[in-house]
Amino acid sequence: MKGLSYTWKTLLPFLAIVLIALVCSNILIARSIDQFITHNWEQNLLQQARLYADSASSLIQAGSPYTGVDEIAKSHPSDIRVTILLTDGTVIGDSTIDPAKVENQIFFPEVKAALKGKEGIDTRQSVSLKTGLLFAAVPIQSGGQVIGVARTSIPMSAMDAEVRNIRNINWIILGITLVVTGLLAVVLSAPGINPLRKLTRQVDLISSTGEFTPLRVSLGHDEISTLTMSFNRLISDLNQQITQLGSEQAILGSVLSNMSDGVIIVSPEGNVKLINQAAIRLFNVAGDISREKTLIEVTRLYQLVEIWKKSLATGETQTTTLELLPDNNYVQVIASPLGASFPGVTLLLAQDLTRLRKLETVRRDFVQNVSHALDTPLSSLKTLAESLQSGKIQDNELAPQILTRMNIEIDKMLQIVHELLELARIETGKTPFEFRPVQPKEIVLPAIERMKDQAERASLDLNTQLEENLPPVLADALRMQEVLINLIHNAIKFTPSGGKVTVKVEKRDKFVQFCVEDTGIGIKPADLDRIFERFYRSDRTINSGGTGLGLSIAKHTIEAHQGKIWAESEPGRGATFFFTIPVVE
Ligand code: ADP
Repeated sequence: MKGLSYTWKTLLPFLAIVLIALVCSNILIARSIDQFITHNWEQNLLQQARLYADSASSLIQAGSPYTGVDEIAKSHPSDIRVTILLTDGTVIGDSTIDPAKVENQIFFPEVKAALKGKEGIDTRQSVSLKTGLLFAAVPIQSGGQVIGVARTSIPMSAMDAEVRNIRNINWIILGITLVVTGLLAVVLSAPGINPLRKLTRQVDLISSTGEFTPLRVSLGHDEISTLTMSFNRLISDLNQQITQLGSEQAILGSVLSNMSDGVIIVSPEGNVKLINQAAIRLFNVAGDISREKTLIEVTRLYQLVEIWKKSLATGETQTTTLELLPDNNYVQVIASPLGASFPGVTLLLAQDLTRLRKLETVRRDFVQNVSHALDTPLSSLKTLAESLQSGKIQDNELAPQILTRMNIEIDKMLQIVHELLELARIETGKTPFEFRPVQPKEIVLPAIERMKDQAERASLDLNTQLEENLPPVLADALRMQEVLINLIHNAIKFTPSGGKVTVKVEKRDKFVQFCVEDTGIGIKPADLDRIFERFYRSDRTINSGGTGLGLSIAKHTIEAHQGKIWAESEPGRGATFFFTIPVVE
């Protein structure tokens, strides 16, 4: 029954019951038919015997040789055998054979019953005919006396053929009834089974497409409609949960991909189950990551594998810092086991410490640079003060010179402190800028005027190229002049005599671009990014006498004007500094 469809599971027991009922009734009917046919034949034989008894009565009374009796018997046209006997059992007439050849019949039960004046019936094997026979015997009476017996018989085979025929018809009827019942059952069960089939098909469709669409409900209050409605409720619950899961997953996914920290989830076998964009970027992961790969295949960093193994073995959080090539980035990796909910699964969290490290270096450099910048003038001051103390103060010639030198050193220190304070004020937004529409030449011409003599002393050609009809810019004119002066000052400082310094101004979209171009020593590409940092000075210019703060102040000033500042250079062939300021709209 297990492998059978629901239709057959319901139909088969029903058909079995019908079959058993039909077979039983058929057996009963067959038995009744048997009895009916036998009884019919018995009555028929008795009836025939009675007729012969009547006809033979007067002939027997007439006495021997009873030839008339045998003639009557032999005149019988049918299959029925007729035998006429005297009361002593002697056969005096027989429809089939010569009476003289027939043995005495007195001991047969039907004959005995007839001799007692009753009608007798018996079935037995005939010795002479070698076949089963049905016998019926009636007394031949005269004046109330039994004077003989008239007996009829018929072979059972005649009766059996009739019984067999009727039985066969009965079995055929049974077969037809069974087939018709089966067909009717299939047809009648269809309204119940078809909706189930439909339901199955729709559910199959859902599982093959993965789309949880509601099933079409057949209106009604039957079990199938109730089942369909329950199913639809389940689908709508599932849909809700899937949507919720989907949105939670989407949130998690976007959190993971927008995180600045790298996340890698590693399975107990060492395969990368998940890696976010930050980790891909940090570890320079190349190639296809859609297929599950091992940690070493994905990151090619044995230190990561080691920390993962250590965390897996100890079940504890492990931390390490890696320096990654080629950019010398510093990455801190924390490996933590995810615990009981995901046994053996490890979370690798990678934080980029490069910026922090850089800031740390800048801070250290800053302290070092301030100390260094103040050290030189302070040491000079100390030496000068000591020489005054050691009696030079009495020396009328030397004393004023020493004091003048002391004054110069104090000025240098004041300059450093002043620039540092200025930078700190700009950085913290405490510098009051006076923005107003300014013509670019209001910035350029005073700066050139200020630096003209210095350029001349350095035997440099300082010239300007101002585009015509430049629009006004929104700026604090004095501060812009300071920025430009600083750039020209640097250009003069780092350009050997005979060189050229050009100040160009032109319009670029919504900005006016200022540029100071020199033909000096230039800047190495590695220094280009760093010259705007506080105190940064390239190796080649370390003894130029500057503080290393000028460009940093310039950068902050330009940024406060919503502009940009940058430098381009070809070492040995000069440097060009650019800055932009937005035009007045
Ligand atoms: P400094 O007071 O040392 O000039 P800046 O901040 O103005 O400080 O400049 C920082 C560094 O940038 C300089 O020390 C120098 O190494 C480099 N620099 C600036 N301008 C030029 C230039 N025109 N040519 C070459 N190097 C320059």
